[in-house]
Formats: sequence, structure tokens, C-alpha cells
Amino acid sequence: MTRKRTRESLEHILCEPCSACGGRGVLKTAETVCLEIFREIIRSVRLYKVKTLMVLASNSVVEMLLDEEANMLAELETFLGVQIKFRAEAQYNQEQYDVVLL
Ligand SMILES: [Zn+2]
Repeated sequence: MTRKRTRESLEHILCEPCSACGGRGVLKTAETVCLEIFREIIRSVRLYKVKTLMVLASNSVVEMLLDEEANMLAELETFLGVQIKFRAEAQYNQEQYDVVLL
């Protein structure tokens, strides 16, 4: 058995694919996730005619929504006539979010 193969077997025993990135080795940026959330909000409002939504997302994404993206968010609320609430979920990775209709 070569040394390389030993190392590979050990890695197989000791490691598992990263659940955050699915083994890709990269994560979407918080900004990209914010844009996806905006699209999801627009889609949900058009489909279900809701008036209030709650966005569940990672800390980094919620921080960006309430800071850099605050203006965009205010415009979206006015344009769609909805209220958008937020909750940071400590166990969510940066790519995870849910748009909940209230
Ligand atoms: Zn990873």
C-alpha cells in the first residue's frame, strides 16, 4: 500500500464532505444570497398576494440586508406594498435562507 493511498483512506474515515458548500469548496457571497432573497420575495408576493413576510437567514446575510441593502429593501417594501421582517438563524450557513409568508 502506498503512502498516498493510506492518507486517502484515513481522510475517508476522518472527514466528510463539507455540508455548507457541498464539497465545492466555495460559498455564495452574502450579496448574491441577498439578491436571491429579493427575487424570492417578489415571486412569493406575486404568487400568494401576502402582506407580510419573514426572511430567515444567516447572521451575515441578515446584517447585509439591514445595512448595505436597506435602501433596496425599503424600495421593495414600498413597490410591493408588503412588510418584510427578518430573523437571523445561528445554525444557517451563508447560503441557507427561507422566505416565510405570514
Ligand atoms: Zn465547504
